[in-house]
Amino acid sequence: MSDFVVGLTGGIGSGKTTVADLFVAQGATLVDTDAIAHELTRPDGAAMPALLAAFGPSVADVHGALDRGSMRRRVFADPAARAQLEAILHPLIRQLSLERVRGAGSPYVILAVPLLVESGSYRERCDRVVVVDCPESIQIARVMARSGLAEPEVRAIMAAQASRQVRLAAADDVVLNEGSRDALLPQLRKLHQKYLRLSSEKAKANC
Ligand code: ATP
Repeated sequence: MSDFVVGLTGGIGSGKTTVADLFVAQGATLVDTDAIAHELTRPDGAAMPALLAAFGPSVADVHGALDRGSMRRRVFADPAARAQLEAILHPLIRQLSLERVRGAGSPYVILAVPLLVESGSYRERCDRVVVVDCPESIQIARVMARSGLAEPEVRAIMAAQASRQVRLAAADDVVLNEGSRDALLPQLRKLHQKYLRLSSEKAKANC
């Protein structure tokens, strides 16, 4: 069982997934709240009965999974629907994430939470917070290249997230992802060693 949890966060397109994969390559367990949200909303997902009861059959696609586009449009126009969606999904995501954190067998767990700084509800479970950081211009270019969104749309998403400054103020550690993927490797090796050391110190202190 892992008792050392590193919360991983960063703005849209900062490189959270890229960095999380590099932690996994070094032996960490990844618990990814975004992936869990997808799991819960697949055709047989644990959130689907409550979502169908709350929003009706139109929230499911032909396979019975959550129709994300239709749900997104609905909550964009209706704050009460957004609150209802979050009231259904967030506790389930949190419960399953923390179950998986508890079940992990590696010396430390990476708990990836895109809105860790904004939501606050996962922070108390984290021994450390690592922020993936890059200049906003790079975030915008990456998201535009990947999603085909226009710059104002990317900026609107960023405006709804914590600012770079606020996120960095919440960081115990920072991975700077403004260059090549190779430039991440030495940073990741250092952090991996640090988390191994800190997790072993915590385990000894708890003995
Ligand atoms: P999101 O918030 O949208 O889920 P993310 O923070 O998880 O994004 P990634 O998916 O890791 O970010 O990266 C965003 C895009 O930028 C991806 O297409 C990824 O391949 C690319 N990318 C990330 N880091 C680098 C890098 N150092 N060099 C080049 N491309 C990169």
